[in-house]
Amino acid sequence: MSPGSDNFAWLKVWIRNTESENPAFRNLFLVNYDGGLITSSVSLGWNDRPASTPAVNSKTAYSFDNAEKAEFIDRNLTESIRLYSEALAFSSFPQERALILSRIGRCYFKLGEYRKAIYQYRKILDIENETMKIGNVPATVIALSQIADCYKALCSDKEQYETMLELYQQLLDNPWNLAGGDYLYYLKSVSEKIHNSGNTLRIADSAERNIGHLLIKEEKLFQKIRFIEIIDRVILPEMISELRKGSSSELRSHNISREVNDSIFQLSYFKLPATFQQSQLLALGYQFEKEYILSDLFPGVLASVEFGKDILVGILNQNDSVLYIQDEHQLPEYLVTTGFSQQFTGWKVALFDPDVKSIEQLTGKEKQLYMILFIGIILVMLIGIILMIRAVIHESEISRMKSEFVSNVSHELKTPLALIRMFGETLDSGIVNEEKDKQKFYSIIRKESERLTHLINNVLDFSRMDAGVKEYNFQEADLVEVVRGSLEAYKFQISDNGFQIEIELPDEPLILKIDKDSISQVLLNLLNNAVKYSDEEKHILVKVQKDSTSASISIADRGVGIPKDELKKIFDKFYRVSTARTKETRGSGLGLTLAKHIVEAHGGTIEVESEVGKGSIFTVRIPLPGI
Ligand code: ADP
Repeated sequence: MSPGSDNFAWLKVWIRNTESENPAFRNLFLVNYDGGLITSSVSLGWNDRPASTPAVNSKTAYSFDNAEKAEFIDRNLTESIRLYSEALAFSSFPQERALILSRIGRCYFKLGEYRKAIYQYRKILDIENETMKIGNVPATVIALSQIADCYKALCSDKEQYETMLELYQQLLDNPWNLAGGDYLYYLKSVSEKIHNSGNTLRIADSAERNIGHLLIKEEKLFQKIRFIEIIDRVILPEMISELRKGSSSELRSHNISREVNDSIFQLSYFKLPATFQQSQLLALGYQFEKEYILSDLFPGVLASVEFGKDILVGILNQNDSVLYIQDEHQLPEYLVTTGFSQQFTGWKVALFDPDVKSIEQLTGKEKQLYMILFIGIILVMLIGIILMIRAVIHESEISRMKSEFVSNVSHELKTPLALIRMFGETLDSGIVNEEKDKQKFYSIIRKESERLTHLINNVLDFSRMDAGVKEYNFQEADLVEVVRGSLEAYKFQISDNGFQIEIELPDEPLILKIDKDSISQVLLNLLNNAVKYSDEEKHILVKVQKDSTSASISIADRGVGIPKDELKKIFDKFYRVSTARTKETRGSGLGLTLAKHIVEAHGGTIEVESEVGKGSIFTVRIPLPGI
C-alpha cells in the first residue's frame, strides 16, 4: 500500500522505467491539457480524478450521521464510538472503512485512550488499497501521523520517532500532487520533527544510516520539486501555447533554453500523438543527461565512426572549453567547430589535429600547390589563347599574302606577255622600217621574256622548295667566275635602266662547292631588287670578298631602303613591304625567300643592312670548304 497512490500512478511508474532504460535523458515529465505536470515522483496541478466513491450503504450512512452528531453535538464520545463501529460493521468499501476507522481512532484519542486509538489507526494501515484517501490526503499519511501523535501523548518517544520515520519514508516514496500544498506541509513538518527529535533522542546506528539515506532522497525530491516549479513558472505558458498551435501529427522536438537564477536551464519536449491526447496527455518533456552523454554516449558513437588517424573529435561548451575529447588528448587549439543543429544548445563539435597543427599549417602546402596549379593553368590558357590569336593572325596574313601573290604573279605574267605580243606583232606587220626602232623592239621583247623566265623560274623553284623537293647540284666552282657571269648576263639590263654599277672582285679564283645556277639565281634576285627599289640614286656596288672562314658577296644599292621592323620579315614567303614604292613595283614576294633557302642549303647566311631613303646592303656568306 502506498500513500501517494492515485489514478495516474501508472504514469509515474512508466516515467520511472523510461528514465532508467534511457540514461541519456533525465527529468522526464508529462504535460496534460490543463497544464498539469507529472514527473517520476512529484506532480503539480494534475487533475486527479477522485477514486470512485462507493454508493454508501443506507445503514452505514445512518449510523455514520448519528455517530457524527454524538461526537460533535452531544459530545458523547462513547456513544459515537459505538455508532461509528456500527457503521463500520455495515460497510464493506475500503475507502469508507478507512474514514470510519480514523473517526473511531479520533474519538479514542479525545477520550485519552491512546492505545485503543493506535489500534484503530493501525487497522487503516492493514487495509491494502493504494488509492485510498481521507479528504485529499492519503489514508496512510493520516493514520501514521495520528499514531505518532498518540505516542507523543503516551510519551513513548521511541515509538513516536519510529512512526514518524515510517511516515517520512512513505512521504518520500509516494509524493502526490504538489497543488494545494498538503503534501509539502506533511513532508516539511515530518522532516523537521525527525531532525529535532533525532538530535535529542539517542537513536540506533541502523536508524541513523536510514535517516542519511532518507535525507538524500529528500534532497533529490526537492530538486525535482524545484525543477517542476521552474517549468510551471517559467516555461509552461510558452510551451502550452506552442503546443496548441502545431499540428498534432508531427513528432518534432522543441528546445527551450532560459536563464533561471543565473544559470542556463535547458529542456526539450515534443507533442504527443493524438492517441495520447485522448487520455489528456499533451506533451513529453526531458532534459539531457549531459554527464552520461559526454562520458558514455559520445565515446561510443565516435568509436563507431571512422575518422582516420589524423583527426580527433571533441565537444566544447559555449566558452570553448573542452568537455570531451577523443583519446583524452590535451590539445590547446581546435581546427574547426560547428554547433549542434538542435539539441545540446551551446555545445559544439570540434576537430583537433593530434600533432597540434593549426588549420593553416595543415592546409598550407595544399593551398600553395593548388595556387601554383591554378596559376599554371591560367598561364597555359593564356599562352594557348595568345598562340591561337597569333596563329589566326598569321593564317589570315598568309591568306592575304597568297591572294596578293596570285594577283601579282598574274599581273607579272600578263604584262611581259602583252608587251612581247605587241612588239612581236608590230615587227611582223613590217610597219617598222627603221633599223634602230627594230633593235629597240627586239630589246624590249628580249627583256620582257627574260623577266618572264626569271619570274617563272622563281615560282617553280619556290614550289619545289615549298614541297621539299628542290635539288641542288653542288660542284666545285669559282665563285668569282659565277658572279662575273651573272653580272655579265644582267649588266645590260642594269645599264639599260640607267644604273651605274661598281664591281669589286678578287683577282684569285674562289673555289667553293656550290650549285652555280642557284647562286646566280640568288644574285639575279638581289640585283633585280636593287634595280626595282631604287629611285634617283641609281648606283649598285657588287663586292666579292673572302675572310678566314667564308666568302661573301654583297650587293649595295642607294635605293629606298627598308624600315627596321620589316627587316626580318622580308625573307618570309609572299612578304612584301607595304610602301608606295613596293606597290608600284611588280613582284611576287618570293625572291628573297628563295635566296635565303638557297644560301642556307649551301650552309651559308644572308643578311641585310638598310636605312630608309639611303639604301640597302644584302650580304650572302658561304663558308669556305673544310670549315
Ligand atoms: P619582290 O618580288 O616583292 O621583290 P622579294 O622577296 O624579292 O619580293 O623582296 C621582298 C620585299 O623586300 C620586297 O617587296 C621589298 O619591299 C623588299 N626589298 C627587297 N630588296 C630590297 C631592296 N634592295 N631595297 C628596298 N627594299 C627591298
